[in-house]
Amino acid sequence: MKVVINGAGIAGTALAYWLGRLGHDVTLVEHAPALRTGGFVVNLWGIGYYALEHMGLLPALLDMQHTTDELRMVDQAGRTRGGYPSSVLVKLARGRMATLARSDISATIYASLDDRVETRFGDSVTAVVDDGTRVHVHFEHAPPQEADLLIGSDGLHSRVRQLVFGPDARFEYPMGCHVASFEAAGYRPRNGNAYVAYTAPGRYVARLPMRDDRMLFFVLLRDEYLADGTPEDPAGRKAALIRALDGIGWESDAIVSVLAQTDDLYFDSISQIRMDRWIQGNVALIGDAAACPSLIAGEGAGFALAEAYVLAGELHRHGDDTGAALAAYQARLHAVVARKQKHAERLAASFVPRTALGVRLRDYTTLLMRLPVFPRLLMGRYFHDELTLPDYGI
Ligand SMILES: Cc1cc2nc3c(=O)[nH]c(=O)nc-3n(C[C@H](O)[C@H](O)[C@H](O)COP(=O)(O)OP(=O)(O)OC[C@H]3O[C@@H](n4cnc5c(N)ncnc54)[C@H](O)[C@@H]3O)c2cc1C
Repeated sequence: MKVVINGAGIAGTALAYWLGRLGHDVTLVEHAPALRTGGFVVNLWGIGYYALEHMGLLPALLDMQHTTDELRMVDQAGRTRGGYPSSVLVKLARGRMATLARSDISATIYASLDDRVETRFGDSVTAVVDDGTRVHVHFEHAPPQEADLLIGSDGLHSRVRQLVFGPDARFEYPMGCHVASFEAAGYRPRNGNAYVAYTAPGRYVARLPMRDDRMLFFVLLRDEYLADGTPEDPAGRKAALIRALDGIGWESDAIVSVLAQTDDLYFDSISQIRMDRWIQGNVALIGDAAACPSLIAGEGAGFALAEAYVLAGELHRHGDDTGAALAAYQARLHAVVARKQKHAERLAASFVPRTALGVRLRDYTTLLMRLPVFPRLLMGRYFHDELTLPDYGI
């Protein structure tokens, strides 16, 4: 089969990996000029961990982990008010959890791609015509291409989704918060290997120590702290974040100074993508493009890996019947992902409480995670996948 995959993040590289291995002719298109570097750290467990393991890439990635010893919640003066050892989460995942930089996952998969996969950076799909048998794909730069399948793996704001399924507004469910992340070298204090987080009403700031004396900062803001909505331009975004964090306590002054100097700021709304179907004719969506669960669900990278594996597996299982393969892919995963999305919606309030009392209660609740039984009661559902991925023999 000839397959065009738009977007070389985790979902796109993983699908290219499987389809290349199965002998298909794959073009992977990425609008960034090169594979993304840096970025935030994600936890992988459950079906995502299984999918990565099945690709044979887990040992290499486990060597690149960014594990922490504890999650510590502090107050305005830096005093510990909550938190628990990270081992509690690892135990909930039955030891099968990896903490990895998002870009390390896609770079490791990318490095292992079969040479049947042609990658084109700095390009993107601009138009799609599906004649029922073949899909005609137009690009910003390259000449048009005919393919058996077009896959949109181009993330939360997917171009393929917009072109084939409809505008973002039909599928995007904002969760009332924005997220930002950025990095700096040599930041102090480092507090050993602890993830340290401070919450003022409506605003959450955390720092996570990384390799090579780097520090990753992570900010969550309720939308009401973005007075003028979401600025489009990078300078406007930075200014809006600085305004929201200015003087909120703890290390906010130092973190605002770091933020003022960064030239690599990730900033986006926290949204879910909810669609009734991920396939239309010879076009399918995977990863955040299809069903972003949002960082609150904490399983988007895992789902992206699982979706790539299942889509490739069903294509393998159904041979020439691509329509049946796409339908089976959707049938196997859609309901499971939708339930996780619902669950995340309920968790959203505890991520960034609106009031000082809410912050206190949330911080004290995290202390319960140090006791027996409570981790399972409070977070067991989060770490439970209803689904076991089939072995497609690929
Ligand atoms: C702060 C934060 C923390 C998170 N924590 C976790 C966690 O702990 N566990 C977890 O499992 N998940 C987590 N997630 C979610 C996870 O990162 C995403 O769900 C996952 O990366 C989705 O992968 P993807 O490949 O579908 O999309 P993306 O990683 O967004 O990749 C999309 C790719 O498509 C490219 N692209 C975009 N538009 C175009 C276009 N028009 N043409 C061509 N290419 C295009 C992009 O440049 C990018 O390379 C977190 C997310 C955030 C924001």
